[in-house]
Amino acid sequence: MTDLREIGEFGLIRLLTDHSLPHPQVILGPGDDAAVLSIGDRWVLYTTDMLIEDVHFTLKTTTPYQLGQKALAVNLSDIAAMGGQPTFAVVSLGLPPNTSTEFARELYQGMADMAHTHGARVVGGDTVKSSSLIINVALLGETEPGGAVFRNGAKPGDVICVTNTLGDSAAGLALLAANMPGPTAKHLVPQPRVREGRLLLGLATAMIDLSDGLAGDLAHICAQSGVGARIKKELLPISKEVRLVAEALNQDPVQWALRGGEDFELLFTVPPDRVPSKIGPSTVHPIGEIVAEPGIRLIDGETMTVIEGAYDHFRLGDS
Ligand SMILES: [Mg+2]
Repeated sequence: MTDLREIGEFGLIRLLTDHSLPHPQVILGPGDDAAVLSIGDRWVLYTTDMLIEDVHFTLKTTTPYQLGQKALAVNLSDIAAMGGQPTFAVVSLGLPPNTSTEFARELYQGMADMAHTHGARVVGGDTVKSSSLIINVALLGETEPGGAVFRNGAKPGDVICVTNTLGDSAAGLALLAANMPGPTAKHLVPQPRVREGRLLLGLATAMIDLSDGLAGDLAHICAQSGVGARIKKELLPISKEVRLVAEALNQDPVQWALRGGEDFELLFTVPPDRVPSKIGPSTVHPIGEIVAEPGIRLIDGETMTVIEGAYDHFRLGDS
């Protein structure tokens, strides 16, 4: 019998969604950052994300307040990646019975505060007893009808852009694992680019948030748009701090930028004559271009290598 290690996370998603029936109010079903539904005179966006102790986080390196902020932030980021305004969240918690009331209160406060910062509210949820801590957030967002950015609109010639810098989360994770001081804030409490996502409506031809790493998330845009991409290594925005951490830990910061994941910046494509230098409070960095030829290639001076690989929760060899 086939198991999930053979088909992988994306094979599982295909298996589960193969039989979803069309509905006149479903503008977009599975396969993007959020589902898009036509309700009343609005488009409603709907996303969910689950965090599990010792898979997605360890309580050794995060406070409950930070964890609550992150649980909301990863969902807000998916609404941002559609160009939507987040609205209402419900939160389901699986909690070990020996969890302190103070821990539960701080966790919830972190979620409420992160939601509030981006104009959203936590309006309900569920709690159950569990052997480890599980946090599931379901979040709604909204936008005007027709006003959402999908993953499938990238065209050859479009410029590939990212907001701010890459690899910060991977660097933070590496520092925490090595028990070393340094910049860990972006790993512990990512900042969803909600305002930027809204401002990119009508400008970006395709958009996704960087949850799995640039290589994997760009592959989703390319696959759904039926295009390929060329990235220039020298254009990858990596901060001086991240380069110093990489040097101290004997790691390659370019690999962190390409595959690190959890930066929760926006990755988007725009026509070449419309590349912004800033969007809201964020700096925009052009890093390459969309091409007709399939595959993602990294250009480093004269050499060009094919890169691939999204993080997959079920594949053999993944931790
Ligand atoms: Mg996403």
